[in-house]
Amino acid sequence: MATSGPRVQTVLGPIAPGDLGPTLMHEHLLCDIRPPAQRKPEDLGPELALDNVWAINYGTVKGAARNYLLDAREVATDEVARMIAAGGRGIVDLSSGGLSPDPLGLVAIARATGAHVVMGCGHYVHDYQDPANATRTVEDLAEEMVESVADGVWGTDVRAGIIGEIGCSAPWTPLEQRVMLAAVLAQRQTGAAVNVHPGRHPDQPQEVADFIRVKGGRMDRVIISHIDRTIFDADRLRRLADAGCVLEWDLFGQESSYYRLADIDMPNDAVRLRAIRDLIDRGHLARILISHDICYRSRLVRWGGHGYGHIFANVVPLMRRRGFSQTEIDAILVGNPRRLLTID
Ligand SMILES: [Zn+2]
Repeated sequence: MATSGPRVQTVLGPIAPGDLGPTLMHEHLLCDIRPPAQRKPEDLGPELALDNVWAINYGTVKGAARNYLLDAREVATDEVARMIAAGGRGIVDLSSGGLSPDPLGLVAIARATGAHVVMGCGHYVHDYQDPANATRTVEDLAEEMVESVADGVWGTDVRAGIIGEIGCSAPWTPLEQRVMLAAVLAQRQTGAAVNVHPGRHPDQPQEVADFIRVKGGRMDRVIISHIDRTIFDADRLRRLADAGCVLEWDLFGQESSYYRLADIDMPNDAVRLRAIRDLIDRGHLARILISHDICYRSRLVRWGGHGYGHIFANVVPLMRRRGFSQTEIDAILVGNPRRLLTID
């Protein structure tokens, strides 16, 4: 075990970066993605079954709250074991404040599966945040994130290995901007990478990236999530990559044109790979990550979904068929995650 010097900080402790292996950089193992105002324990709606899962996925079932709650360690353990069987080894849980993060649950899953589980910290979008955050200073918010990485997160001694996902809405709220500034300050002290959840407007990723640069953040350690539902043109993608940050296509496996949260043309996996190809051809291989961002039940194998193993089992073969080299695949799944998760 690496206890000093360059290390990847998993929920079970530090490991040598070379031991990390193929890694999913944006997932949720235990998480509650329901908006806090809609969290009613007595009204969870139906459990998923063969005769409702398609309709729930397509968004025509109202009140399917249970789908948006990942609260069972045994289920998550089984799903992570499937990821390992498919060829994965590391998995980053970015359930930040507001998404019911569960560090001790992640410890149990890591112990049971042997996966390298890395955990995030900080706070999700405005509407999910603890109302008490409204009166906290930037320095106080930053100190919480530094402590999360240095000592432990959410009152435990489980250390975060990355900052995020830090939530932003479009338009960007003053509270979210203060939390983002705090994340930049915490990055400066800890060296940890920052993961950004941008709002659903094609100009928001650039707005956030410009803000982080002006505030002195390390652009090569800033990851912009959810590119697949946010930016749909090559010019914006190239400009964002040219700014030096890392672009994350993290909705792999979502191949329906239905997207509950916005009326947009969602890409399928092959279309995602086409956008990634364009950036690689422009010299941006070191700035690309892929993941699934699983945060509801119907995307798990248990309930008819693709599961955390999809990228390793299905997307990697698709990449090969589309002409991606082994060097490129290794950079996206091994080298880039290792570099971003290494803390000196
Ligand atoms: Zn997420």
